[in-house]
Amino acid sequence: MTAPRVTPGGRWTGYHGVNGDHADVNTAATDLINILDAVEVPIVVLRRDFSVACFNRAAADVLGLSPSDIGRASRDISVFAGCPRLEQQCDEVVAGGAASRVDLRDGDNWFVVRISPSTSSGRQVTGSVLTFTDVTAFRASMSSAIYERECTKTIFNTVRDPLVVLGADQRIESGNRAFYTMFEVSRDEAQAAPLYELGNGAFEAAALREQLEEMLAGSRAFRPVEVDDVATAKGRRALTLDAHPLSFPGHSERRVLVTFHDITARKQAEAAKDLRSEEELRRSEAFLARGQRLSLTGSFSWKVASDEIAWSDQLYRIYGLEIGVPVTLELVRTRVHPEDVALLEEMVQKGREGRDNFEGQYRLVMPDHSIKYLHVVAHATRDQDGRLEYIAAVQDLTERRTSEEALAKARSELAKVARVTSLGVLTASIAHEVNQPLSGIITNAGTCLRMLDTNPPNLQGACETARRTIRDGNRASDVITRLRALFSNEELTLEFLDLNEVTREVIALSLSDLQRSRVALQSQFAEDLPTIAGDRIQLQQVILNLLRNASDAMADVHDRPRRLAIRTELEAGDRVRLSVRDAGVGVNPRSMTKLLDAFYTTKADGMGIGLSVSRSIIERHHGRLWAEPNDGPGATFSFSIPGGPEGDTAIAPVARQP
Ligand code: ADP
Repeated sequence: MTAPRVTPGGRWTGYHGVNGDHADVNTAATDLINILDAVEVPIVVLRRDFSVACFNRAAADVLGLSPSDIGRASRDISVFAGCPRLEQQCDEVVAGGAASRVDLRDGDNWFVVRISPSTSSGRQVTGSVLTFTDVTAFRASMSSAIYERECTKTIFNTVRDPLVVLGADQRIESGNRAFYTMFEVSRDEAQAAPLYELGNGAFEAAALREQLEEMLAGSRAFRPVEVDDVATAKGRRALTLDAHPLSFPGHSERRVLVTFHDITARKQAEAAKDLRSEEELRRSEAFLARGQRLSLTGSFSWKVASDEIAWSDQLYRIYGLEIGVPVTLELVRTRVHPEDVALLEEMVQKGREGRDNFEGQYRLVMPDHSIKYLHVVAHATRDQDGRLEYIAAVQDLTERRTSEEALAKARSELAKVARVTSLGVLTASIAHEVNQPLSGIITNAGTCLRMLDTNPPNLQGACETARRTIRDGNRASDVITRLRALFSNEELTLEFLDLNEVTREVIALSLSDLQRSRVALQSQFAEDLPTIAGDRIQLQQVILNLLRNASDAMADVHDRPRRLAIRTELEAGDRVRLSVRDAGVGVNPRSMTKLLDAFYTTKADGMGIGLSVSRSIIERHHGRLWAEPNDGPGATFSFSIPGGPEGDTAIAPVARQP
């Protein structure tokens, strides 16, 4: 609206005097006009017939009235067209004398029009006085507040999780759609009800009240609360409740917004997972226990610093102790075979030294005096606090040992039978071969005697039979020579050999036998040995025989360690020597020479040919085999043979002994 250009004060002065003249206006009236013109609120005076009587400067500026509007019916002036009820309101004011108000819109602007009666000096109502208050800005802010409120309401209802606002008394003020749906209550039913009445009392039990009270008192933040078994439209659910204070500057009133989050699915999944992992754990424990039973293997952990020991059930079974009995090293020692306590202590010591791994074998003596053979393998690890802990497996080898021993026994029985059989065959062939010439000798000797006994003696016949006797005697000798040749096996396969290597192979072959016989083997090999030329298999036969004899000689030794030392060394003249020293029964100096003879044996199942064959093998390598008693217990058997590559040229078949 464009304000008409008017002279200040002119409207009242000029317009007021429509029916009078200027001279009638006194000074007081002029002052009043000035005052009204100074007022910023538009003021318009209407007559009873609604024609404009006068207006002030603000009305001209704000409403766009001009002097030509004076006297015109207000309904014909465009600004008043925005309020069709104006005439009616003015009528009522004029008729009743009571002020009234009406809203007026002028384009984008809004005014509140207050209508009060205008009276003459005789107190007669002559028309109405209209004042205009511009409320455009106020209305705009009002509508944006409404808009904001509506938006909030929509957001509130769009949120899927139930939400509720509680007043200071913890009663429900308003909730979102999800809230009413979840608890199957209408907005009206829920209004002003305590939250605790919902969910079939589950919230009461969750001790929610105390936390909400504290929050409403402003003393503490809310810690989310899990509430199980809440009765809802979807059945029993598990919910997490969280709360946030709703307080605004300038408002002393406190309220809280409570949110509900359904965690039923998550809890069910967790419960299922717990069940599964519990089941898996149970299964793997059962597997382990069964595996331990089947493999006869127990396990234990040992915390070195505190000596805390934990055993598996199977280990209790192996030790024959009641499952669950507290285990101490002392208790373990009481079961260990007295001869093996030192071995156990050695392992414990290795553990205390912090070795990465250790292993060993020891025996147990059970209450019924039976023996158990155990093998332990321990591995170092660290517990959560970084302290040394061993995890170990203990295998019960008793059954394996027993069956191995039974097998070894069966093998040696078989070997014995084979030996006896071959001895029987040998004996039979010797008897067969030697019997003929012997009976010939006897027969001829008898014939010879008879011929000499005749009178005169038959000297010619006697000479003949004596010659036959000699012939038969030679035949018998030939048989023996042939048999010796059979034993000495003339075929040699020569090659360049490292005696140490040859010996190591034999040790590897016989180690398990030696261990079974509880023989502790020590070896010492000279590094500077020359190569020898020899038959690998035959030399190994000799070494094997010396080892077996040494082990046999210690079979009845129980009061000292069964030590067997094998060593190689260089002798003067580039010869190499191998000696086997034992701690066995030893050799009697008087029978020393007989030991190497064929068929000399002191063993129940011996044949007495091992050393004699060994001697002939060594002799064919131009060497020497001998035995000597030790200073202490036992004996030492040695051989020495020439070394050097030229050795092969020196080897020749042994001359047959007659
Ligand atoms: P066998 O072992 O069958 O008896 P050997 O010729 O190998 O035959 O041994 C002959 C004998 O020599 C043995 O029976 C034993 O009396 C004695 N002998 C051999 N080696 C040792 C040894 N290391 N200690 C004591 N005696 C031994």
